[in-house]
Amino acid sequence: MNDGPDELLSPRTLAARGPRFQESPTRALTPPIDVATTYIRDADNGYPMGRVYGRSDNASVQHAEAQIAALENARSAMLFNSGMAAAAAVFMALDPTHVVVPTLMFRGLQRWLRGIGRHGHELTAIDMADTGAVRQAIRPGRTGLVWIETPSNPLWTITDIAAVAACAHDAGALVCADSTVATPVLTRPLDLGADIVMHSATKYLNGHSDVVAGVLAVRRPGALWSRIQEFRSQQGAVIGPFDAWLLARGLKTLDLRVREQSRSAALLAARLAAHPAIATVLYPGLPDHPGHDVARRQMAAGFGGMLSIRLRGGAAQAIGVAARVALWERATSFGGVESLIEHRASIEGADSPCPDDLLRLSVGLEDPGDLLRDLMQALEAAP
Ligand SMILES: *Cc1c(COP(=O)(O)O)cnc(C)c1O
Repeated sequence: MNDGPDELLSPRTLAARGPRFQESPTRALTPPIDVATTYIRDADNGYPMGRVYGRSDNASVQHAEAQIAALENARSAMLFNSGMAAAAAVFMALDPTHVVVPTLMFRGLQRWLRGIGRHGHELTAIDMADTGAVRQAIRPGRTGLVWIETPSNPLWTITDIAAVAACAHDAGALVCADSTVATPVLTRPLDLGADIVMHSATKYLNGHSDVVAGVLAVRRPGALWSRIQEFRSQQGAVIGPFDAWLLARGLKTLDLRVREQSRSAALLAARLAAHPAIATVLYPGLPDHPGHDVARRQMAAGFGGMLSIRLRGGAAQAIGVAARVALWERATSFGGVESLIEHRASIEGADSPCPDDLLRLSVGLEDPGDLLRDLMQALEAAP
């Protein structure tokens, strides 16, 4: 963890340069990978760099953390070995409390919270896009946390972060925003009043589908932040140095990737919306998306690289279209260079709220014309 932001630099510059690696004896431009699991004491019994042992401290990890803190305009960031571990740390560090969560949220986290992750918390699930419902669900003095995910999987519902943060803070509750889909290129939740921002860094932050990682960041590190830190160190939910190094490298192109993926996704959304085989295109950038107005206010440089389509021909047609694409890869996860297509209901399981006629598209960095042509041929062949 490092002190964060230089307010004068644009996100693109912050991403491209990262913080200067302070400790290279060779003056290498690119930081080395600090593979040490342990650090040497001075003769006076102290640790000159403050690092003791790899479960709590590592220079490569701290370097990537400083990079993310700068991008989120945060004071401090903490990396974990997955997005799930980062999210879990928030719930585990809180004393049992009342938590308001969205009905539609990342399925893995929802399952964990309903099962072993309950941890004594009382959960209320609501439509987080409806600020009135949020206000009603919050119990002043008793609600400890409001969990936001925006845009949220797989309908890309938009939560008004500033409005929810105002309601939560009035009642003494904290707000944690899962901003995996938006990335700091499009939205900086801490600027809008969230107390903690969370990412699955597996997705856009790393961006190359080769690291599983998660991160939390805050502007005001307080008692809860210290408990989260303790949890990570004691539980051992740490990311390895090589993964942290890959993540730091991926972050350098975050701004360019997300802007380009947003542009391509917007183009695809507009073209697909006119296709007769498609009943609905779900994309916050489309004027008829229910969250469009809030998204326009809260997403700065685009509406993201994720969209979903619902097929008139139902589940069979959706699976058929996914079967016929040649360029899009049939795989779960998102935010990488390669475009992915997924029949989401198949992976979410029987009790999924995801409509079974829905295909989720993660737009990569290929030429959008090629991506569109491939989808069009898969749709034309639809029965
Ligand atoms: C993937 C994802 C997670 C979980 O992250 P992992 O890195 O897979 O553990 C949490 N939230 C969202 C929105 C995600 O997409």
